[in-house]
Amino acid sequence: MDFLRPTTWEEALAAKADQPEAVPIQGGTDVMVEINFDVRRPVALLDLNRVAELREWDLVDGVCRVGAGVPYTAVIEDLGGMLPGLAQASRTVGSPQIRNRGTVGGNLGAASPAGDSHPPLLATDAVIEVESRGRGVRMIPAAAFYLGVKRNALEPDELIKAVHVKPASGPQYFSKVGTRNAMVIAVCSFAVALHPEERRVRTGIGSAAPTPRRALEAEDLLARELDWDTPALDPALLRRFGRLCAAAAAPIDDVRGTAEYRVHAIDVMARRTLTWAWNDYLGRRAA
Ligand SMILES: Cc1cc2nc3c(=O)[nH]c(=O)nc-3n(C[C@H](O)[C@H](O)[C@H](O)COP(=O)(O)OP(=O)(O)OC[C@H]3O[C@@H](n4cnc5c(N)ncnc54)[C@H](O)[C@@H]3O)c2cc1C
Repeated sequence: MDFLRPTTWEEALAAKADQPEAVPIQGGTDVMVEINFDVRRPVALLDLNRVAELREWDLVDGVCRVGAGVPYTAVIEDLGGMLPGLAQASRTVGSPQIRNRGTVGGNLGAASPAGDSHPPLLATDAVIEVESRGRGVRMIPAAAFYLGVKRNALEPDELIKAVHVKPASGPQYFSKVGTRNAMVIAVCSFAVALHPEERRVRTGIGSAAPTPRRALEAEDLLARELDWDTPALDPALLRRFGRLCAAAAAPIDDVRGTAEYRVHAIDVMARRTLTWAWNDYLGRRAA
């Protein structure tokens, strides 16, 4: 197996262009498991750990740009104020060791429907920056990035460079059901983000369909009927929101849970996270 070790982004793009079958490796918390279990035997590994800029984040024109190699621990410690939904989801990933190595870029590369970063990325209208040597940069909205089970919109010669997310303008919450409290892949998960300045709510559903997805009809319902000036969240509206989020899911039965349970759990998590977010919103308005 070839082991390619670029030290700059340009070298990394060149290596991927010359050898599209090379498998990128960042934290290795997915790649190494697959190699150890003989799920795949790549002809080449493209180690991105020496490309320093991938581990950086910054604010560009008011948008937070998180390098693909920024580990979950940094998202939690450095970005929790700006990206609370993503930080909350990051806290639920694996163990401290996994959070020190694992990255949002790797989560996107793996594109598992159960990946924890996907629901908050969807709920915050995140955009994925990818690049190839031949065609340059493409900016892909998160909603267009997930194409199928463990399939994403990357072309063979492309690498993920960063994720762009606007700093939160309102409360954001993430909820995850697992078969135990830690070190667990989501049975299903849900994220909500309030965008008060635009008077809209965005959602993200995880592990309850072939790809992470938004609950578009539920978002439309709130766009039409949520009264942002009222102190109380209408219980009937909340119930309809939960039901529409559940209806947006298309889960399967598997070892972690039944489809029926997942649909029920999405309904509960949608109502719960929206209530948490709404109460936060009211608290901030009153302050
Ligand atoms: C014990 C354990 C517990 C875990 N718990 C969770 C959990 O709770 N929640 C969760 O979501 N995940 C979990 N995972 C899975 C894994 O940690 C995450 O998916 C993590 O985000 C992967 O990041 P990484 O940097 O380690 O990726 P890697 O393993 O390095 O790569 C993952 C995939 O992304 C590709 N890739 C990496 N970087 C790039 C790039 N820049 N451009 C293009 N492709 C790229 C790789 O080729 C590979 O296909 C767990 C894994 C383990 C081993």
